[in-house]
This record gives sequence, C-alpha cells and structure tokens, in this order.
Amino acid sequence: MSPARSVRVTGVVQGVGFRPFVWRLAQDIGLRGWVRNDAAGVDIHLEGGDDRFDAFIERLRREAPPLSRIDGIEAHPAAFDDCAGFAVLDSEAGRVATAIGPDAAICPDCLAEMFDPAGRRWRHAFITCTHCGPRYTVTRALPYDRPQTSLAGFPLCPACEREYRDPADRRFHAETTCCPDCGPRLRCVDAAGDALAGDPVAAALGEIRRGRIVAVKGLGGFHLCCDANDAEAVARLRARKHREEKPFAVMLANVDSIAAHAEVSAAEQAALESRERPIVLLRKRAGADDAFSGVAPGIAWIGAMLPYTPLHWLLFHEGCGRPAGTDWTLRGHPLALVMTSANPGGEPIVRDDAEALARLAGIADAWLLHDRDVVSRCDDSVVRLSGGAVQAIRRSRGFVPRAIRLPAAGPSVLAFGAHLKNTVCVTRGGEAFVSQHVGDLDNAATCDMLDETVGRLLRLLDVEPEAVAHDLHPDYRATQAALAFAQERGLPTFAVQHHHAHIAAVAAERGRDEPLLGLALDGVGFGADGGIWGGELLRVDGMRCERLGHLRELPLPGGDRAAREPWRMAAALLHALGRGDEIERRFPGPAAGAVREMLARGIQSPPTSSCGRWFDAVAGLLGVKPVAAFEGQAAMLLEGLAERAPDAAPDPDGYAIGGDGTLDLLRGIPALLAEPDAAMAAARFHATLAAGLAEWLRRASEATGVRAVALGGGCFMNRILSHRLEQALATSGIEVLQAGAVPPNDGGLSLGQAWVACRR
Ligand code: ZN
Ligand code: ZN
Ligand code: FE
Repeated sequence: MSPARSVRVTGVVQGVGFRPFVWRLAQDIGLRGWVRNDAAGVDIHLEGGDDRFDAFIERLRREAPPLSRIDGIEAHPAAFDDCAGFAVLDSEAGRVATAIGPDAAICPDCLAEMFDPAGRRWRHAFITCTHCGPRYTVTRALPYDRPQTSLAGFPLCPACEREYRDPADRRFHAETTCCPDCGPRLRCVDAAGDALAGDPVAAALGEIRRGRIVAVKGLGGFHLCCDANDAEAVARLRARKHREEKPFAVMLANVDSIAAHAEVSAAEQAALESRERPIVLLRKRAGADDAFSGVAPGIAWIGAMLPYTPLHWLLFHEGCGRPAGTDWTLRGHPLALVMTSANPGGEPIVRDDAEALARLAGIADAWLLHDRDVVSRCDDSVVRLSGGAVQAIRRSRGFVPRAIRLPAAGPSVLAFGAHLKNTVCVTRGGEAFVSQHVGDLDNAATCDMLDETVGRLLRLLDVEPEAVAHDLHPDYRATQAALAFAQERGLPTFAVQHHHAHIAAVAAERGRDEPLLGLALDGVGFGADGGIWGGELLRVDGMRCERLGHLRELPLPGGDRAAREPWRMAAALLHALGRGDEIERRFPGPAAGAVREMLARGIQSPPTSSCGRWFDAVAGLLGVKPVAAFEGQAAMLLEGLAERAPDAAPDPDGYAIGGDGTLDLLRGIPALLAEPDAAMAAARFHATLAAGLAEWLRRASEATGVRAVALGGGCFMNRILSHRLEQALATSGIEVLQAGAVPPNDGGLSLGQAWVACRR
C-alpha cells in the first residue's frame, strides 16, 4: 500500500475544464496533491488513502466534464511528497499535443447568465465557458491557450481574470472567455461599411423583418439570413445567391417551434438539441411549404436547426422583446430565419469581415459583424435520423476535429479525398481525423481551402504524415494536390479506387478489419479498369479489393451532360430496351434527335455502371425531373415520390443476375412505363432494386463465405433504399454495416482512403 498515486488521463481532456473538475473532485473526496496538463493529457498526483483513490478513479470516469472524452486512465503507486493541499499547476513546458475539441453550442449556464439583466454579461454576444463555445474554429495553433486563439487581441479585464484563475469557477482557464468590458464587439453595417443606427442586434433584426438579407457572422463563417416566413425575401435570396432550387436550412428558437412545421421524433429532438447543433433533416408537416414558401421547394424534407451561438440567441431574444430570464426560450416562437452558408459561386464559406463586405456585395443588404476572427472555415453539419441512428450527410462544425477510432493503429496517413464534397483525413496512431467540409474542387478558392485545411489539420494535430493517399482518378484536383504534397516531402503515395474507399470508410468507422462484401452505389467514380463505375459489388480485404459484379451498364449520351440531364439517361434506357424510336416523342426537345443518334451509333456515349444514373434514368422516364438543377436532385425527387406509395411490392421479374455477376434492372422498366401512377412506379423501382441487390448479395455471400456487407456511396442517402435493403437482408444472416458518423457520400471518402493506405 502506497500513500500516493500517479494518475494519467488521456483523451480529449485539455481545454474542456478537466483540471478544475479534478480539483473539485479531489477536494470533495479529501485527497491532496496536484493536477497539470502535459504532452500526453492530464497528469494527476494524489495523496490520501486506497479507498479514496478508488472513489476518485470511479468518479473521474462518471462525472467527467461534458466536452471531455476519456480514452484511458492509468494509475501507479507514486512517491509520497506530503502535499499540503490540492493545487492546479500550469502546463508542463514543451509539447502539449492532445487534440483540440470541436465547437460546442452555448451551455445552459451561459444561456441563463446572458439573459440575467443583473449579471455583468447581460446580452453579451461572446459569452462562453469551459463547457461551451468556439474551439476548432478560433484556434490557430497548439497549445490551446488564449494567445493561440482569435481572442489573443482581447486581454482579460480584472473581473474575467479572477474567474480565469479560480479553479472553483466554470471559467477557470476558459481560453476564449470575455465580457462586455474586455471582449469583441458587434456592429451592424450597410454595404458601404457604415454602421446602422442603434443596437447592432436590433438593427439586424429590423432589417430582416423588413425583408432584407443580412450576412451574419457565425462560428465557422458567415450565414446569409432572411425571414423564412417572407416568401419575397426568400425568393430574393435565391435570385441573388443563384441557388435556384437547392433547399435552405431554417433556424427556429426551439423544438416546439420546429414541431409546428415538421415531424420531430425523440431521436431527432436529441440530435437538434445536441451540443453539435447540426442541421437535422425532418419530414415536413402539411402547411410547411405555405409557412416557409420557397425554402425547400418540392421535397418532403426540411433542414432545421436550433440557435447555437449567443449571437443567434440574441436575434431571437430581440424578436421576443428582450425578456429577462430564459423561460421565453422554451416557448414556441414564430421567428424563423433562413440560415444558409454564405458561399457565393460555390466557393468556400466567407470568413473575414472585409471578405464578407466584398464577396457578399450585391447579395446582402446589411452585415452583422464582430471583431472575433474565424480562423478555420467550417460550414454547418447536416444529419438525418435513419432507423433511430444519426447519419451524417455533411460532417463539419461541431464534429470536427473529433477523432474516429480506427480498427487498428498504423502509420500516419494523409488522405486527400474526392473531387466533390471534398474532405481530407489524417490518421495518428489508431485515430482518424476527418476535416470539415471543404467543398467541390471546381474553383481555385476551394482548392486553396483544401491546402489551407491540410496545413491547419496537421498543425493542430501535430502530425507528420508518413504516406499520402488519393483517388485513382488522375485528373482530380485532389489527386494532383496529393501528389504535389507527397513529392515535396518525399512520401510514398497510394491510389485508392473510389468505391473501395467508400466501403473502407464504413469498415473503418465500424471498427472492422476483416474481409467484407461491399456494396458501393454512387454517382461516379474512376474504375480500376479506367471505366466509369458507380454500382459495384466488391469484396474488400484491407488493401485488396475485388470487383465481384456491377449494375448493368448504361450509355451516357453526351458524357457529363447526361449526369445533369436525367432525360438523357431515360433515353439511354429506352435505347437499351430497343425502343429508341420513342425518344423524340417522349422527350420533345432540341437535342432529342441528336441523343437518339448518339445512342444508335454508339458515339459520345461512354458506358457507366453508376446506380445514380439508374435513378436519374427512372426519374427522367417518369417525368420527375428532365433536367436537374443540382447533383442528386432527380434521385431526391424520385425518393420523395416513392414515399407516397410506401406499400409498393418489388417486381419479382424486374431484375436478373447474369452469370458474369451483372445485376440487370432493365427487364422491370417496361412495367414501370405502363404504370399509370407515377408514385407507385417510383416506389416499385426502389423496392425492386432493393430486392435485386439483396439477392445479389446473398449469392455473393454464398460464393465467398463472407457474412457481412458494408453499404457505401451517395445513393445510400436514399432512406427508402437503405431501409428496404436492410429489411430484405434481415433473414439472410448477412450483417449490414452502414455509415453513421461519417457520411456515406464522397464527404467520407478521405477516411476510406486513409484506412486502406494504413493497411498497406
Ligand atoms: Zn458555457
Ligand atoms: Zn472581461
Ligand atoms: Fe462517390
């Protein structure tokens, strides 16, 4: 029995109020000693007695602060120093290399404080403590200390300093804490940069209420904001942003307010209220489109979120007439704000004040600014609930840079991701860190953000990559960036096939390091044979990937244009059915004749096995959307249509599996064409596809002896498809692995690339 213990805690334990928590716990239990941060986490010295040590360890686990995550606790006997009390020591000099946490929504304590008229932080837009507020988006470098954050230019006033130094205060070492005396300031300006009269929040809300568009500085960049109840304002925002049909997200004060417009399950409520505060896709109620005209036109879902910064709350507070206390935050509230990323021209989200005034000129009417800089751009995250589980659609603010635990440790790999919905990923030991959403790499600004994101991620994690992974596509900007990075540093590179990476991403997230079947259903990806893949049945085993089969290939008449114009894919289906003579009658347009010709002569029509193009083709045939306004739109609308006929049964003759492993859905198409009810036809296509895929997987499982399948690729954002497939496999004995924390679409690709390279 030793009278002293040394306890080491690893995980997310710095910058989250861990030392004061330890201090309080030790006092409570009656232990003496000290606590400090060091390179590996938190180092604790305890003196007291065996039973107290045990109680300490147990409560350490159970009562850890909300933003912390304990990965390991190690306790050893230590030399007895006869400490007088319990001290919080400064960080040990040298490297402090644990991870920086993600940004968190304002906590209940800070919310209560900012709406207490007697408190010194009444209506303070930058209120925060160790349990909440900005982290990743305001931190320039390690260690996580105030001088390394964008609060560096705001020295603490004496009152804040006292809180910062007091281990009993929830602001003990809260690096971004401040108050109206020492903190950043809000201002609301017009296009000329001149301040509007009066209180900035009141001025901004006044503009919004007059139907104007206000650029609001958030955690990871600017939002464009307008009144969601004002159809004209929404239409103006669409016109100015050139975002003609993509849905906008809305922010409402609380779940009660949202529930008036959308169905909110208990799991969806939990996601909405989580400290990550993502946009949650919810099923609209009848009347939602009347209230929020033009916000999410034509689709059954609406993206909703709750206020997550003090500034958001101030807008709602102003809307309520500035009541004291927080009772008002629990009541239904009519104010609804469109909150869409300010990313004109598909470029990254606007970050700086000067940049906002320049890039949003002609789009915004007013700017609600402040002088706390955004260091890392970070869009809102988007999730949906699938069978009670959260599934990421875009994993960004609130989640990044939280680690994803890998099935095994490996060398440090940097993966550069896909061309669309780009993210990058770096591994460190047994953990993977996927970056925020970078975007579609078809402009220089987004490519710059890719480089910037790589640099910042490596700096914040203090990692030197040993290898670089990228997509097989030689022309991707991400591939070129990867090769340039590797060449500069003399690192080995690994090209990972797109669909292999999709499956590996799910395997990595689900902790699987064994042979798996992989069903990758996607838009497009560069195939191992140079072809255009996207409907692949694979057998994946670490670095190895075998193509067992694919969907029947369809020609892409006009190449890339066919991916944007579903009617062309419909024409390709008609051609494949030997009914090419119907193309011009069904799709009377200037290009119909040319498309028929291309198909008939087999020119400018490369084949693709893409599942996304099958969805497009059916959407085109059913007249859902002849020309898509954005990638995936036709499939989304087809899914929405299919939801109206939930009981549709699969067509048992609607698919065939060839001896070469090809799944062919062509034989079910004539029956869909003959179906007078488009919703029924859409639903039957989904059901038949799921039935065909399930049978395909059963045969592959029998042939290979592999009993688990990972589902990857953008098509698995389609809930009907995921759900039906899971149902169809329920009695097959095949285990189904789906994406969850990381999106099934190309946003998750970097994780898969990194994991494959890790296994080499
Ligand atoms: Zn707080
Ligand atoms: Zn202060
Ligand atoms: Fe993909």
